[in-house]
Amino acid sequence: MKPEALLSRIRVVLCRPSHPGNIGAAARAMKTMGLHDLCLVAPRQFPDAEATARATGAVDVLERAQQVDSLAEALQASVFSVALSARQRDLGPRLGAPRAVVAELLACAANGPVALVFGNESSGLANEEIMQCQAAVTIPTNPEFSSLNLGAAVQLLCYECRMTAFAGAAPLPDAGVTPLGGEPASHAEIEGFYTHLTQIMQDTGFYNPQQPGRLLAKLRRLFGRAGLERDEVNILRGILSATQKPTRHGRQD
Ligand code: SAH
Repeated sequence: MKPEALLSRIRVVLCRPSHPGNIGAAARAMKTMGLHDLCLVAPRQFPDAEATARATGAVDVLERAQQVDSLAEALQASVFSVALSARQRDLGPRLGAPRAVVAELLACAANGPVALVFGNESSGLANEEIMQCQAAVTIPTNPEFSSLNLGAAVQLLCYECRMTAFAGAAPLPDAGVTPLGGEPASHAEIEGFYTHLTQIMQDTGFYNPQQPGRLLAKLRRLFGRAGLERDEVNILRGILSATQKPTRHGRQD
């Protein structure tokens, strides 16, 4: 199954969200990662101008969002669902790290729709909501300040889903641009540059072959680190050649 198709099988469920702005932020977080199926369980206020504003270009995700009265309705078609909880609970499904559980979620997505379930901003998920899920995840955080903003938690999980769906190599949006880098310079081209550089350093009195010291070795080390490309060697040699030519303002001495 293609990564995009797998991602489209992941439903994000927000249980009883209080702030419409967070609903918009979640929609945006989802769309940036290629997820589109948003489901709202008893939102306090929706639709709402703040949600639309925070969604920016992901208004389509908001418009298509399903609204239901209970988590059971939201999960009706799901074959696997994961509860997101800022606190570890003593009861409920087994707990896992985000990456490991997301791997399981995507494996299940090959068989049918799956869901990520998020809680209310102040109270989190109720125990009876967590118990309807097959796995639970706590995002590792600073133990003294562990609760993420709802939209941020959605973003993080959606990112993990995208990375897993593309096996860690999700393409970048600008993949089509021509890279600035070019062909590497050959050994002979680089040696030609060193010869030219040494000559200019000698002509200008910067380098005295009678007292070579470690200058040439240091310069080779410097340019060796740079991994010179052919164009770059040509630029450097052009600069060296320019020092040998008369300037526009008259001859150099
Ligand atoms: N005060 C609530 C936190 C609510 S934050 C509580 O203690 O549960 C809103 C939702 O974002 C949470 O219900 C959870 O779904 C998600 N979330 C926030 N921080 C999280 C974390 N560190 N790990 C997993 N989910 C988190």
